[in-house]
Parts: sequence; C-alpha cells; structure tokens
Amino acid sequence: MEAISTTAKETTKTGVVTLTINGKRVEAREGMTVLEAALGADIYIPTLCHDSDLKPYGACRLCVVEIEGMRGLVTACTTAIENGMTVRTETPAVDKSRHISMELIMANHPADCLTCAKNQQCDLQRVAHYLGINQEHFNRLRKTKRVLPIDKSHPAFDRDPNKCILCAKCVRACQEITGVGAIDLAYRGYDAKVSTFADKPIHNSICESCGECISRCPTGALLPKKYKQPTHYVKSICPYCGVGCSVNLGIRSNEIVDVQGDRGSPVNKGGLCVKGRFGFDFISHPSRLTKPLIRKEGKGKDIQVNGNFREVFREATWDEALDLIAWKLTQIKEKHGADSIGVLSSAKCTNEENYLLQKFTRAVIGTNNIDHCARL
Ligand code: SF4
Ligand code: SF4
Ligand code: SF4
Repeated sequence: MEAISTTAKETTKTGVVTLTINGKRVEAREGMTVLEAALGADIYIPTLCHDSDLKPYGACRLCVVEIEGMRGLVTACTTAIENGMTVRTETPAVDKSRHISMELIMANHPADCLTCAKNQQCDLQRVAHYLGINQEHFNRLRKTKRVLPIDKSHPAFDRDPNKCILCAKCVRACQEITGVGAIDLAYRGYDAKVSTFADKPIHNSICESCGECISRCPTGALLPKKYKQPTHYVKSICPYCGVGCSVNLGIRSNEIVDVQGDRGSPVNKGGLCVKGRFGFDFISHPSRLTKPLIRKEGKGKDIQVNGNFREVFREATWDEALDLIAWKLTQIKEKHGADSIGVLSSAKCTNEENYLLQKFTRAVIGTNNIDHCARL
C-alpha cells in the first residue's frame, strides 16, 4: 500500500502514477486509491470504514477530499489515482463535510467513553479528537435516546448495537476474509443495524466464532466478554495446532487478556480460529494443573474427577511421576508385549518434541504404535 516515493521524478515510469497531494509530489502504483497514495506518502486522511484488507466501501465519508477538475468532494478510499491529479485533503469545504459526517455518527452514539472497555483504543474517539469534535459540537447534537438490547448470546463475545457506527467492517470481514457471511446490514435509515439472518442471536446463527469481526471493529460495539485492556503486547505463536499462526498476546499484570492475529505474518495474515482467538483462559485458570498428580491408593475409577480431583489424586514430583510411568510401562510390556502399548503425540508439541516421542516409542518401548492428534 505504500506510495513509492515523494522525491521529484520528472518522468512517469510504467505502472507509476504521479500526482500532487497538498502541494507534495507523490508517486504511487497504478490502481491505488487516493487514500492509499496519501497514506503511503505519510499524509493522514481520517477514515472509520477503510481497512486495507477489505474492498473500498465509502460508508463513513470522513475521507472526502477535493480533486481539481472534479465537482464537489469525493471519497479518497473509492477514487483511483490518475496521472497529474491534484488533491487537497485539508480545505474549509473538506473540514466542514467531515465535521457534519462525524456529528451524524456521534448523534447516534452513546457518550459512554469513561465506562467503555474500548476507551483509548477506539478509532471513533481518535478520529473525533483529530477533527476537534468538542463539547460545543456535542451540545448542538440532538442525541438519540434509543437503547438497543446487547446480544450476549455468544460465549466468547458481546455485540452492542448502541456503539455501532455502521461502518460494515465486521460484515465485510465476515464475507471477504472469513467467507462465512453470518452478518449483514439490515433495515433502512434510522433502523439500520448489523444483523444475523432473521435477526437471531449471533450464537444461533452460522457464525463460526473466528472473531475476525471483533478485530476489525473500530468501536466498542464488538468486544470479547469481560474484555480487559492490555498494557502491552508480546509476539508469539498460537500453541493449538501445527499451522503455527503468529499472534500478538495482550498482557496485563503477567496475564494474557487479549489475543490479536499478526497481520504481518505470511502464515495467517492476521486471521485466527476460535481456539487461537479465544482459547487462552486456561493459561491463568486456577484449576490448571501445574504439578503431576498420582491417583491415591484405593481411589477407584468410579469416582467422578470433576471438581473433586484433589480427593482422588495427590500431587507428586516430576521424578516420582516419571518413575511410576516407567515402572508401569515396563510391567505392561513384560506382561502383554510392546505392541500392547500405543502412544499419541500432539500438534501442540514442537517438531523436536514429536521426533523424540516417536523415537522413544520405537527405540525404547519397541512398538510402531505411534500416532498424532491435532486436538490433543
Ligand atoms: S465505542 Fe469509543 S466512542 Fe463509543 S463509548 Fe466506547 S470508547 Fe467511547
Ligand atoms: S459492529 Fe463495529 S465493525 Fe460492525 S458495523 Fe458496527 S462499528 Fe462497524
Ligand atoms: S466471529 Fe467470524 S464468523 Fe462469526 S460473525 Fe464474526 S467474522 Fe463472522
């Protein structure tokens, strides 16, 4: 998406378009939009519905610019660059139009920033600040009093239509990236909203829980349940399967509170499945096993482990647990033969760990009964 260079080059090369933005000479690739050329040349144009991974949409109308020779204002995100084009991104007419668009958005938006989980991570806030929207503007707005029900049906995330600005990023992400189409814009005018088929709760729709819509939403309309803002992010690899998606883990007080797909990764390009996106609560869960457990003498198989495992098992050291396993495997092998033992490995292990396990199974136990399950 980057524009090629802003240094003066008098001749136009094939595939390179030269234009002027705010008096600055910009060279960009043919086929780029005015918005892409401007952003690539470090010229900021505000937008709330643009996403470089999605097709241009032109919904929020905040990216309007003036282009010499064109009547009125045009949206930079849907206008292709042309040779010799002269673009102005900050003029009185542009400023007025952006303010009106922003005020229309804010008129249907609750002023809940202080209690909103998205506070200070919110694109709507950021763009409002950039445009200088202030209390005076707010006082002029005839704010809507409507309060729509929050869809809490999904176990992993909530949908709050009151904070939705109808940018349709979620809808487009669901269709263009995930290829599911679980949600779409429904109804008209004031009643317009993002809806599932037949307006069912999201959990009863065809949603595949990938969370792509949440990661694209510019406001607090789509958020993971009990969302906490991280203090910093750490790059890592999803532990769930062999695909190895790159993730950015949101950390707060040594706890993982958020997972974002790494959009720069050639493996997943920011995408994640339901496990990678939401399945990280086990890491800090109080019931997580951190030490080996050995079944207590006399505690039979009929005893339900659920919620009661400390009655049935006792904590042990790794040495004690490994000695017991080795002793039991030796006994089974002597009594029933090596082929009575089977070993299942896991996609969560590294290649090296999986290699070692098959070596142990074949060379130490003496059987070829070694397999792998991606879900272990
Ligand atoms: S979505 Fe953004 S603008 Fe709206 S209440 Fe939350 S933080 Fe404020
Ligand atoms: S839910 Fe979020 S992404 Fe979807 S339309 Fe509303 S503001 Fe945009
Ligand atoms: S979670 Fe994924 S499948 Fe479900 S609505 Fe969002 S993008 Fe579509």
